[in-house]
Amino acid sequence: LFIAFEGGDGAGKSTQVGALCRALEAEGVPVVRTREPGGTPVGERLRDLVLEHGQGEIDARTEALLFAASRAAHVQQVILPALRRGDVVVCDRYIDSSVAYQGAGRGLGARDVEDLNLWAVQGLRPDLTVLLDVEPQEGRNRRVAGDAPEDRMESEPDDFHARIRGAFLEAADRDPARYLVLPAASPVGDLAQRVLAAARERLA
Ligand code: C5P
Repeated sequence: LFIAFEGGDGAGKSTQVGALCRALEAEGVPVVRTREPGGTPVGERLRDLVLEHGQGEIDARTEALLFAASRAAHVQQVILPALRRGDVVVCDRYIDSSVAYQGAGRGLGARDVEDLNLWAVQGLRPDLTVLLDVEPQEGRNRRVAGDAPEDRMESEPDDFHARIRGAFLEAADRDPARYLVLPAASPVGDLAQRVLAAARERLA
């Protein structure tokens, strides 16, 4: 079972990824927790490369290709082996993040970015995608409260994040059976329960 978490910056994905992994492990389910972009030594370096460079230093197509390269390595080296072992894979961000950030945010077009990434991962899609839907202003407030330094994407203006949000919701609209869309502003415990219920349904 392959579960991906998606959503804008400050949506609370990491918290929910952690909660789901702990809950499944407590039930004796073998879980591999991983994140995008990264999850492999090569992928982590590509991630740092993309996120550390200043505005304008990396053009949109290069950025999209670096994320897709990181994802290809991640799928080959981490996700597919785990799925073959029968483990549950819980991944923080997947292709929808590229469709949203590079496709809608950077204006490369959702379709091209999705095609590029599906090629990179040999067509592997999640069985369940949890979308934590966050309003741009709220995401910003949460990031400020969390007081980690903002990266290159996070410091983009609210209209960039509004395009990201729209792209995530569109992806969910196109394939409702695969998505669980939750308002990120709900209490953490309620969200965790709903996510666990959806995972259990697909495990049964
Ligand atoms: O979720 P996390 O904070 O680990 O993501 C790291 C950064 O990478 C985020 O700022 C996110 O906006 C960005 N990102 C991106 N394109 C992707 C995936 C992530 O711009 N395809």
